[in-house]
This record gives sequence, structure tokens and C-alpha cells, in this order.
Amino acid sequence: MSSTSTAAADAVRSVSTGTSDGGVPAVLGSLSPSRASDFLTCPLLYRFRVIDRLPERPSPLATRGTVVHAVLERLFDLPAAERTPERAGDLLRPEWDRLLETEPELGELFSADAERDEWLAGARGLLDAYFALEDPQRLEPAERELFVECDLESGLRLRGYVDRLDVAPSGDVRVVDYKTGRAPREGFEAKAMFQMRFYALVLWRLHGRVPRLLQLLYLGSGEILRYQPDEADLLATERKLAAIWSAIARATERGDWRPSPSKLCDWCDHQSLCPAFGGTPPPLPLVPVPVIPEARVTDERPSPHTPVDEV
Ligand code: SF4
Repeated sequence: MSSTSTAAADAVRSVSTGTSDGGVPAVLGSLSPSRASDFLTCPLLYRFRVIDRLPERPSPLATRGTVVHAVLERLFDLPAAERTPERAGDLLRPEWDRLLETEPELGELFSADAERDEWLAGARGLLDAYFALEDPQRLEPAERELFVECDLESGLRLRGYVDRLDVAPSGDVRVVDYKTGRAPREGFEAKAMFQMRFYALVLWRLHGRVPRLLQLLYLGSGEILRYQPDEADLLATERKLAAIWSAIARATERGDWRPSPSKLCDWCDHQSLCPAFGGTPPPLPLVPVPVIPEARVTDERPSPHTPVDEV
């Protein structure tokens, strides 16, 4: 799937449905793959992030993921012949500087230049791993960092960012996501694919065509996870998301956001406010916001419950 047809690319360029016209119910709430995953793992964490909107400290790992994603996006601005590991490496520092300009607080991640340089070297290793997995000189993505959004009949708005879409001349779509962590252990692949099914569902609802292939590139372990979805899969994903949203709506109505402790709490910035760790959550805001816009950086931040090898 190394080339695109203009028509096929145009087919995926329109990324958002309308809202409540034409008999479609008003939007009751919005969900991204990350926030759905938060709620499934710990409802209280979802509350802290979505309702209280508590700030979280950036981490070197998550920030490295953001920079590597930015480089892989920019890489395809270059002519095909120039998409080499060296040129990709050259993009690292400018992308880091660009991020630092928009989020100066990230400068506090490193106490010394040497520490930052070591971190950048780690990012370079991830880029090298990318080149071992695929040859970007043979690819012309139809889209990069594509915001997609659709409204389901249930009133739930699904939204998120797709790292890359490749469209074949036949119109077949491949959804690609980069992970800077390691591939999941055997038996956990389905959970990892949840996010990709989510995107596939949105694209199907937007364009009426099920993506042909979902592909996760794990740069941390140099592995690729592929999955071919079908309509039954995506209908099941839609039902699952509706069930998650119903549970969120119930929790909102009752103000009942229970902690769900696990070993992954080690990643949580909110332990001091969590009853499972002896804390007390702040009072709930009087009027919960039903539709929460989610920015890319927020969405990219690894959840506290995300094991370090899956960031
Ligand atoms: S510390 Fe654990 S249980 Fe508490 S909010 Fe965070 S993830 Fe949930």
C-alpha cells in the first residue's frame, strides 16, 4: 500500500460528521480511546482527568513519544529519497525545541544538558527502530495526525487522532499508529487493538468503508501488530463504547467515581487525592461538562495505568 489515489485520499480527508441536524440526537458526551481506557481501568482516574481536569506532570517517556511522533509526521514532508534515518535524526532537536516553545515547563524534565542529550539519543534509537520496520521512501501517506470525529446515534461523539492513514489505489485504507513502547505480551493484543478498532469504527461511520488493515508499530521492541477488522468487530466495538458511556453517565449522575487500584497506580499523578491511598478527592464541580474537547497532547499522555513498556 505504498501509493495513493487522489480520489481515495479525498475519501478520507473529510473527517467530521455534523452534529444534531437531520434527526440525529444531540451530542451527550464525547469519548476518545484514551479516556475510554481510563474509565475501564479506574473510574476515579477518569473523573480526575475529565471532570476535575487536574493537571498532570509531564514525563520524559511521554514527552519522548510526542517528539518521536512529531518527527515521524514531519518525515513525510521530505521528498521520498530524503527520508533516511539520518534526516529523521536531524529532525529530533528542532521538534524538541518546537515543543519546548509551546510548553516551556517541559524544560524542567531535565536538570542538565547531558540528561537531555541522553534522552534525545533514546529517541533516536526509536527512530532507527522505525526504519527497521518499514521503508518510508516507499510510502506516501494519505493523512498524518488526522483528527477524526463522528457522532453515534446514541448521542455519543467519538473523537481522536490517527497517526497515519495509507490509502491504496483500490481505496483500501490502512490505519497506522506508532507506539514508542514495547509490543504487548501474548494474550494482551486485543486490548492494544481497542484504540485501533475505535478509529476504524469512526472511519467506517464517516465514509462507509471498513478499513482494510489496522497496524500498530511498536518502536520499543521493533514489532508490528496487524489486524483486519470486519463489520461485526466494529459493531461490537460500538456496543462496547455505548456501554462504557452508559457507565460514565451513571457515575456522573450518582457522583460515584470509585477508585480501582492496581499495580498501575504507580503511574498515577493523583495518589494523594485517591481514597485507595488515604487521600480525599476534591468536591465535584457543580455542573459536569458533558462534552469534553481533548487536545492531542492530553490524548498522547500515557495513562498512569499504562505500563512503561507500552507508552
Ligand atoms: S491511584 Fe490508582 S486507584 Fe487511585 S485514582 Fe489513580 S489509578 Fe485510580
